[in-house]
Amino acid sequence: MAENLKYRNPELAHNIASKIQSAAAKTGNIKICHVCGTHEWTITHYGLRSLLPENVEVIAGPGCPVCIVPAAEIDEAVLLAQMGIVVTCFGDVLRVPGSKMSLLEAKAAGADVRIVYATSDAVEMARREPQKQFVFFAVGFETTAPSTALEVMGNPPKNLSFLCSHRVIPPAMELLLSIEDLQIGGFIAPGHVSAIIGLKPYEVFPKVHRMPTVVAGFEPIDVLMSVYMIVKQIREGTARLENEYPRVVKPEGNPKALQIMQKAFKLAEGSWRGIGKLQNSALQLRESLANYDARLKYDVHVEEGKDIIKGCQCHLVIIGKIKPSQCPIFLKACTPEKPVGACMVSSEGTCRVWAKNVAAEA
Ligand code: SF4
Repeated sequence: MAENLKYRNPELAHNIASKIQSAAAKTGNIKICHVCGTHEWTITHYGLRSLLPENVEVIAGPGCPVCIVPAAEIDEAVLLAQMGIVVTCFGDVLRVPGSKMSLLEAKAAGADVRIVYATSDAVEMARREPQKQFVFFAVGFETTAPSTALEVMGNPPKNLSFLCSHRVIPPAMELLLSIEDLQIGGFIAPGHVSAIIGLKPYEVFPKVHRMPTVVAGFEPIDVLMSVYMIVKQIREGTARLENEYPRVVKPEGNPKALQIMQKAFKLAEGSWRGIGKLQNSALQLRESLANYDARLKYDVHVEEGKDIIKGCQCHLVIIGKIKPSQCPIFLKACTPEKPVGACMVSSEGTCRVWAKNVAAEA
């Protein structure tokens, strides 16, 4: 606890903010992008944007693993539930809109959809009820993929299979750089994903794209420091990969987690809501695990879904092109209680983070 307070020290925060101010005094406009729902929470909750000079902006990219699940994959989970299979998932996934309905709506219509708190809960349920077929709808970035890999490699019961919607972050960061009018000047890389994958996957950003990239933790001091480190690099005219979060992130990442992921998954093209298809961005179960692949086991494959609902601007929020408050239905038709778009569903969604903060301030 005392350790955490150190990273929330207001005096230290103001000192770093004035260093950012000085470093940015002779630079042009700088747009820094993070790709992590928890970073957005820290920035919004602690009002860190108000400490930054006018020419330094921090935007939120596709950092919410639930928001970017394409409607087609929600549709697959709904189809499985409607086939009488018990679909298990983390709570945040329940309300993500599909083309026609969410899993919550499928549940309300009688399907057996159950919330789990860990992948192992789905394994236990399937063991306890061998007469039923179970599917675990596996959503998340490199942080949750190792637990899916661990369970699927651990000889789970035959009445359980996995609908994998895992995605990896670096391809989405590369995509952001190809959106010309975003004009990103630096990346804050997500600490928890980096704790798994290490630093190597980010080397491409400074080396190939000349993009300052700093791996950061989740306390306010971590985030401010990472902004300072990026602004300083820009001021010096350099582009390096730096690790602001060495207390958790090791250069090599977590070799055991990487090994189990490597055994369970291969990289494949994956769709991202609001972004489209990205090569080598989805984690697909290997052929040797085909018996546990729900898509193959039940022949369920939805190619195209309806990602964007009328009036919804999630596709622009997800890539950091607009702020949630610029969506015409933010906190009008779309609220945390009645989300319209995916970005309002999860606690990691940019719109939900903003909405909760507005509510807390009111
Ligand atoms: S306010 Fe709702 S509809 Fe608009 S971008 Fe956010 S989540 Fe999507």
